[in-house]
Amino acid sequence: MHVTRLVFLHQRVCSRLFSSMPPVREKFDLIVLGGGSGGIATARRAAEFGVKAAVVEEARWGGTCVNVGCVPKKVMFNTAMHAEMIHDHKEYGFDVELKGFDWSRIKKSRDDYIKRLNGIYETNLGKSKVKTLVGHARFTEDKCVEVGGETYSADHIVIATGGRPIIPDVPGAEHGITSDGFFDLETLPKKVVVVGAGYIAVELAGIFNALGSDTSILIRYDQVLRTFDSVISTNVTNNMEAAGLKVKKRTQVKTVEKGADGRLKVDTTTGTIDDVDCLLFAVGRVPNSDTLCLQNLGVQMDPKGHIIVDEFQNTNVPNVYALGDVCGKALLTPVAIAAGRKLAHRLFDNKEDWKLNYDNIPTVIFSHPPVGTVGMSQEQAEKKFGKENVKVYESNFLPMYYAVTETKFRCQMKLVCQLPTEKVVGLHMVGQGCDEMLQGFSVAMVMGATKAQFDACVAIHPTSSEELVTMR
Ligand SMILES: Cc1cc2nc3c(=O)[nH]c(=O)nc-3n(C[C@H](O)[C@H](O)[C@H](O)COP(=O)(O)OP(=O)(O)OC[C@H]3O[C@@H](n4cnc5c(N)ncnc54)[C@H](O)[C@@H]3O)c2cc1C
Repeated sequence: MHVTRLVFLHQRVCSRLFSSMPPVREKFDLIVLGGGSGGIATARRAAEFGVKAAVVEEARWGGTCVNVGCVPKKVMFNTAMHAEMIHDHKEYGFDVELKGFDWSRIKKSRDDYIKRLNGIYETNLGKSKVKTLVGHARFTEDKCVEVGGETYSADHIVIATGGRPIIPDVPGAEHGITSDGFFDLETLPKKVVVVGAGYIAVELAGIFNALGSDTSILIRYDQVLRTFDSVISTNVTNNMEAAGLKVKKRTQVKTVEKGADGRLKVDTTTGTIDDVDCLLFAVGRVPNSDTLCLQNLGVQMDPKGHIIVDEFQNTNVPNVYALGDVCGKALLTPVAIAAGRKLAHRLFDNKEDWKLNYDNIPTVIFSHPPVGTVGMSQEQAEKKFGKENVKVYESNFLPMYYAVTETKFRCQMKLVCQLPTEKVVGLHMVGQGCDEMLQGFSVAMVMGATKAQFDACVAIHPTSSEELVTMR
């Protein structure tokens, strides 16, 4: 259905629904909309201060990260790492042979693990004495929250409803899936087309490829991850190609047709791809703000529907706050959690100036090999400080793991420093182990470390991370 019509219908639902609402069933100090990373963290931290809190969730406890994001994705990344390393085992002297791979087995273990996590999240809310309300939450005209026909009120309301993936508007796109659908796949598809150049497209295409699917990734320009430092976009694109992934540059989907055998014909601006078993769109996400009846409160949103907040997570409506993916800034689990906890301290623990600092947020991309990045890209630093005030150190080496293997993926690192002190304002790396290497270095950067202070730290040999303290 056309989006404008959907919104119109929804507006009618909002006004009709609330003309006959029952009286308030229960009053809370805090109601949080959304039982995902940010929502749960906010409510539980608030409850530590004796606050009467409730969380509303319409789907599974834990939200995107636990159910269709970080957690199942990391299990599949680990699975893919096994597939990649099996080839190296022989070169390390082991007599092993890959005889098969059972997708359904790892899917079952993964799903069981997530079910356990759903239970743990719900139990922990109970232990924290946070009331759980199950159903779709909407705002009434008098600033109450309606869930399943009951109305609740609160002194403070936090919107942490996250977002969802989009399917592009091309004929036949309904035959494709999104990252949500990736986690429903019952078998490993033989031939896959992934559309998108962001981190989710890169990660999922990498998993398919490592596990043996014939995988193409369709990207709009010449490189993936274009918003990151060039050391990342260039090397990840090259590594994908070296790993056998078909990177179709400057390519967009025109139409999709489903054949009698259920396989897809994907017609693109640079040719047709036949016999596709799985077409996955990873072309962006939209905030879950459109069905909350926000117009009843007058909460301001940007043109994409992200809720506009200030640095303290305040919306324009007093005592209504928003955080996490629904705000569209740094879409990461620890960001939503940290913003929620800071807000809880500010509202209920007299920490009146507490807010999340959105600078220097470390980010890992689970590509093959992975990316670690924190701070400004070289391009951003040069724009901000002037080219003459930025000094860049780079390193390009072969990690020792590959010394005896046929497969070789080099490691590339870059430190972006601001002159004259050479304060490290950006750190970017692609290579084996960079995912686990990043956290400690980001602590140093948050503390304002300079290149000289990096160098004053004795290297750990032989590791890849020693390069970060020995660059010349
Ligand atoms: C494939 C994928 C991989 C990812 N990998 C990583 C990663 O490796 N590391 C990382 O840090 N981040 C990762 N992310 C991002 C991360 O999942 C999100 O940033 C994080 O979940 C955002 O938390 P949130 O609380 O804002 O929203 P969510 O976790 O999405 O929670 C929102 C909750 O609100 C509920 N909800 C929505 N509307 C309503 C309503 N009206 N009433 C009641 N409930 C409602 C939803 O059902 C959902 O449970 C990944 C995301 C995806 C899609």
